[in-house]
Amino acid sequence: MSSKKSSSKKVMTTGAGVPVADNQNSMTAGPRGPVLMQDYQLMERMAHFNRERVPERVVHAKGAGAYGTFTVTNDITKYTRAKLFEKIGKETEVFLRFSTVAGEKGSADTVRDPRGFAVKFYTEEGNWDMVGNNTPVFFVRDPLKFSDFIHSQKRHPQTGLRDATMQWDFWSLSPESLHQVTILFSDRGIPATLRHTNGYSSHTFSLWNDKGERYWVKWHFKTQQGIKCMSNDEAAKLAGDNPDFHTQDLFESIEKGEYPRWTVNVQVMPEKDAETYGIHPFDLTKVWPHADYPLIEVGVLELNRNPVNYFAEVEQATFEPGNLPPGMGPSPDKMLQARILSYPDAHRYRVGVNYQGVPVNKPRCPMHTYHRDGQTRFDDNGGVSPVYQPNSFGGPADDASYREPPLKISGDADRYDHRDGNEDYSQAGALFRLISDDQRRLLIDNIVAAMQGVPQDIQIRQIGHFYKADHAYGEGVAKGLGIDIASVTHEAA
Ligand code: NDP
Repeated sequence: MSSKKSSSKKVMTTGAGVPVADNQNSMTAGPRGPVLMQDYQLMERMAHFNRERVPERVVHAKGAGAYGTFTVTNDITKYTRAKLFEKIGKETEVFLRFSTVAGEKGSADTVRDPRGFAVKFYTEEGNWDMVGNNTPVFFVRDPLKFSDFIHSQKRHPQTGLRDATMQWDFWSLSPESLHQVTILFSDRGIPATLRHTNGYSSHTFSLWNDKGERYWVKWHFKTQQGIKCMSNDEAAKLAGDNPDFHTQDLFESIEKGEYPRWTVNVQVMPEKDAETYGIHPFDLTKVWPHADYPLIEVGVLELNRNPVNYFAEVEQATFEPGNLPPGMGPSPDKMLQARILSYPDAHRYRVGVNYQGVPVNKPRCPMHTYHRDGQTRFDDNGGVSPVYQPNSFGGPADDASYREPPLKISGDADRYDHRDGNEDYSQAGALFRLISDDQRRLLIDNIVAAMQGVPQDIQIRQIGHFYKADHAYGEGVAKGLGIDIASVTHEAA
């Protein structure tokens, strides 16, 4: 609702445009009722109201978003032909949606949770959706475990409550989660505001150039506001006083003209390096150390325009990791491969099959598809243009000049143990050793607080993982929980 008053008088109508004479009183047989069935206006309003909510997202339900601009500041055309990077100074419109992961749509903003960081770049060759998080890694590396992981973080089947035992049981049985668990319980686990957090593609993607050369890449969006975090106490207080604190902060900053900015960087690995690099380059639980693949600056992303209607623009926004314009591509990362299916699948269920036609999702460039019909079709449905391809009537046709370079793959189709040859401890340990003494104490305190009431066998199993990452890490958590570290090392042995 605009806070600005308008003097122009508009006559209210039904959805069919028929002027409404009375929107205060239902039509009744006599002043005391009953209500007449022919009161179309009443029926229409009640029926529409009943259908106002679309299903909420299974994950990332609570969100805040804004439009902005991406501006190229450095030339990366040797890696990619993607037009949005074609010259320094080039601007592309974007829409960014932040979200928490586990909570429902009305849940508090200031919880300890990763934050979704999903950016839609409306490029002239179609949308690029960078559907990332504010952490560079994830809890699982095989998509078969995704729904199990989310179930463990959502509500208990009997109590309907979030449940620390389910959470730590899953994590302790899934050591690949340790790196992300360490980030989640570090100071960065609760950002002070959405403006004070980074964004990461987390997955490895690819770029390819006009010569058909491919590079593996990871995207990093570094906040220019600086990283700022929130303590557990402050977050708990705000969750009661103002559960929409982050949403409000983002909206009001932009209204005031305080536009948040992120420096966009990319790590670039030549295609061949992936065969010999010591770290599995497509493992979502791992980063590429900066010393191996330094960040290359690409541009600046600024948020500078609030949506006008939350439902139309933030709730109906749909992002797909598979939206990759020419010059960009996916990688073999198994989690990414599965997300390429699951995101549009969720949108078809939640928003409807024509979700790409909703204005916030619609590309700013022309779109020529053979998709026709389906619910909620609000454009001309392709008019008289051909509905099949090939055709002799000038319908859109494919163009081989956009072809992505072929990717060599090999191996027998099988179910490979994703834990074989993938160790889960060194990067979590590196992070523990990198942060300050105060941050380490905070990390341990946060974990100890979150593990209260969890059965001791699960605590011991999880402390074993902390201990393997760094002895001081395991010892600190064990001490905080009153557990003898000898029982942990005995169990681990
Ligand atoms: P570097 O010393 O080059 O980088 C360390 C990075 O750690 C920093 O740049 C910062 O990332 C990040 N960091 C600092 N404090 C925290 C925190 N509390 N929670 C999460 N991240 C934090 O070392 P490496 O590149 O060798 O990486 C060492 C460890 O740093 C990794 O094991 C990983 O846990 C973490 N890290 C690495 C990233 C990478 O892409 N290499 C990205 C993020 C974390 P940033 O600059 O992005 O703010």
